[in-house]
Amino acid sequence: MDDWTRCVISSEASRDGFASLGVPVYRASTIPFPNAQSYQKRHERGDEGYSYGLSGTPTSRTLAHKITALQQGHRTFLVPSGQAAITVAILSFVQAGDRILIADTVYPPLRDFAEKDLRTLGIDVAFYDPTAPDELERMMDRRTRMIWAESPGSTTMEVQDMRRLAEIAHRHGALLGCDNTWATPLLFKPLQHGADIVVEALTKYFSGHSDVLMGSITVRDQAMASTVKGKLSRLGIGVSPDDCSLVLRGMETMAVRLHYCAETTRRLLPAIADQPSVDRILYPPLPGNPGHEFWKRDFNGASGVFGIIFTPAATPHVFAALDALKIFAIGASWGGTRSLVAPMPVKANRTAQPWPGEDLVLRVSIGVEALSDLQEDLDRFFAALDTFCETASPAPAGA
Ligand SMILES: *Cc1c(COP(=O)(O)O)cnc(C)c1O
Repeated sequence: MDDWTRCVISSEASRDGFASLGVPVYRASTIPFPNAQSYQKRHERGDEGYSYGLSGTPTSRTLAHKITALQQGHRTFLVPSGQAAITVAILSFVQAGDRILIADTVYPPLRDFAEKDLRTLGIDVAFYDPTAPDELERMMDRRTRMIWAESPGSTTMEVQDMRRLAEIAHRHGALLGCDNTWATPLLFKPLQHGADIVVEALTKYFSGHSDVLMGSITVRDQAMASTVKGKLSRLGIGVSPDDCSLVLRGMETMAVRLHYCAETTRRLLPAIADQPSVDRILYPPLPGNPGHEFWKRDFNGASGVFGIIFTPAATPHVFAALDALKIFAIGASWGGTRSLVAPMPVKANRTAQPWPGEDLVLRVSIGVEALSDLQEDLDRFFAALDTFCETASPAPAGA
């Protein structure tokens, strides 16, 4: 064999006696076949056969199988982001002439996609109040192909009555899709409550370290799996095994991280609620949170993401006071090891049910730092906020 050929063909090292607890990273575009006949018959092997890297390698399939097991679904597909999981899930099942009803409180980029792209494709889009299923029922018509839910809703944390939504969808021959990113399947399994499709932004708690983007789509049966598989293959969307390896690693500690984040949140909340500048905390475990009763009925617990609404007097000073934070980082996304805050506008993203209050909710994601350091950092923030409020005289008009 010539050296040039030797450089190309690998004679593998023995794997006898080797094992590891981690999942190896298998990279491939080409998957070679043992002979011409097996290549010819590759499509006869069903969904689990490997034929091209885009549709999976043992690394990505391992991750997909683990998610399917947690969701108690039929099959899971991995895509490059949580947003892609939502858009592919919708595009797989909703076509020109169909109608889709989307919760008013969804992840804002979905609203943008629905208003720009779905409408351009000839799909009728309407937004519904996630706290008013009777109204949703009245919006259903023969063309309605899908109800899209997100529970709790982005930023404002309304928990939806999934069983009721499923009942309405199925009675009208529609599908129910649900974005379950806040809860993860550890705390809520939408497919067990009647949903047909569940998506997760694996970018958040699953991967858990703010260094990778990925999304998952899990469906309830084989017919739906074939539909999503075909759509992904035609669109040419797949994920990198290296990224899957990061998500697999993060997922090993997801339960421990979620548990710690929820417990730390529970211990931080009373002092936050007592602040004179705080009007209300948005968090499903709190009585009074919209849909709290459905959280109590359906969920196994809470994660570490909540929202703070400030008093009208304090709201204009929140941005400036955020700069006092030393441990919390300021930034988008959440569910990582590092605690984060992000000031979120709400009004422009609510059309079914106008947002009545101040147009700023501070989204907080509690990470895995020590409780005492987070407590001190929040004290610094609230002290700065109080100082800004006191020195601003009079309070800004109309605030
Ligand atoms: C972050 C998020 C997404 C999008 O995930 P990306 O991986 O950032 O695209 C979707 N849904 C919800 C509820 C999210 O919080």
